Amino acid sequence: MAGELLQLTITQAGAALAAGDFSAHELAQAHLDAMESARGLNAFTAETPERALTMADAADQRRAQGETLGPLDGIPIAVKDLFCTEGVLSTAGSHILDGFTPTYESTVTRNLWAAGAVMLGKTNMDEFAMGSANVTSHYGPCINPWQASSGDSVGKDLVPGGSSGGSAAAVAARIALGAIGTDTGGSIRQPGAFCGVVGLKPTYGRCSRWGVIAFASSLDQAGPLTRTVRDGALMLGAMAGHDPMDSTSVDAPVPDYATALTGDIKGMRIGVPAEYRMDGMPGEIETLWRQGRDWLEHAGAAIVDISLPHTKYALPTYYIVAPAEASSNLARYDGVRYGLRVDGEDMTDTYEKTRAAGFGPEVKRRVMIGTYVLSAGYYDAYYLQAQKVRTRIANDFRAAWEVCDVILTPTAPSAAFAIGEKMDDPIAMYLNDIFTVPASMAGLPAISVPAGLSADGLPLGLQLIGPAFAEETMLRTADVLESAAGFTAKPSW
Ligand code: GLN
Repeated sequence: MAGELLQLTITQAGAALAAGDFSAHELAQAHLDAMESARGLNAFTAETPERALTMADAADQRRAQGETLGPLDGIPIAVKDLFCTEGVLSTAGSHILDGFTPTYESTVTRNLWAAGAVMLGKTNMDEFAMGSANVTSHYGPCINPWQASSGDSVGKDLVPGGSSGGSAAAVAARIALGAIGTDTGGSIRQPGAFCGVVGLKPTYGRCSRWGVIAFASSLDQAGPLTRTVRDGALMLGAMAGHDPMDSTSVDAPVPDYATALTGDIKGMRIGVPAEYRMDGMPGEIETLWRQGRDWLEHAGAAIVDISLPHTKYALPTYYIVAPAEASSNLARYDGVRYGLRVDGEDMTDTYEKTRAAGFGPEVKRRVMIGTYVLSAGYYDAYYLQAQKVRTRIANDFRAAWEVCDVILTPTAPSAAFAIGEKMDDPIAMYLNDIFTVPASMAGLPAISVPAGLSADGLPLGLQLIGPAFAEETMLRTADVLESAAGFTAKPSW
């Protein structure tokens, strides 16, 4: 029985709870047991079993009184450790936030708890969400539950992708029915692809950033990682909404995303951008992309060749804008207000010692790049230029929406790789996000759907990008893509 409870989707678990097949308490306990036996994956930075059972019991009580809150009531989920959770350790995967226990709850998690979701714990992540492999975490790497069946990576532990690696691994390893992550340049979609789960980044402004530890404020967005597109639609519906505490959150009604999944995409125009056909792209990624195009065409959509001419500038400009914002956001970690303090001889010495000891090498690299591009004399040459190019990237998409409704691309240029690879070459690591960063720069919604297996038996994802606030169109297409792909493979873990 307990094993079966772990194989459900959120939609199935919700129906079974409604039918009285099992209680929210039993469902939570099964997942807590799974979390304990999967500790070897290092997917969690904090486990909250007592809170989970208290929340599950409250869900059972509501149900007994006929007061169920909706589709997430009693559903156990995991939370990326970038979200502040009241009374629960929140570290952003960094040593500098040692022992930081917020006295407040992020808006997104508060919305989820108000919808009845049950918190299992906080998930491992790259330090301050900077990374693509979950290897920059102070708490050590998280391990992907998938294993290669052939090729160079056989027998090696693989990365789950990043930065929301723990969240993706937890959903793939059947520890959580769903999880939340954040995506600045790809951190929900790329780990979703690496772990064979759905990763959904909504439009910038759709979810409140209040209480989410800031990395790059003009790019950061929260979103769900789930086993199906429908589950992602349900979670996003609970997470999204206007928040007076975040002036960049948009005051627009939250649609019932699940009702958008009609299965009908007849006449939908699917854009295929020429510039995403990169030199040296593995043949199997190209083949899957073509397969995706055929699936959607077969379902009645029209394929349109489009051009996004500034695509090649997206990654270089992201690595100016994101570090610039990060260097400013991370200035607050001074050894006085939060977490770690290493006492020095005076105030400046304390700042320096604390930051030297508290930040890892990737974070330091970004603080240095960010400070450099914002400094007098370089601001115009780098930061301002990058902002101008960013506008051009957004304009490329704007022009594309004249001729198509959604855009189809691969999610990542490879399948998951072994822990330790690409570590000595930051550029090789940054290239993971080549297909995800452009939509981030333009603030657009995008989703990764598991679509096939690599020759080595590892999951590969296809990405759909939609116009701003067109999550419904994007999700409807993603649902059709998911059905056509029929991805049922599971990790050996
Ligand atoms: N991998 C990218 C980076 O390191 C994106 C991270 C993210 O989306 N948080 O910045």
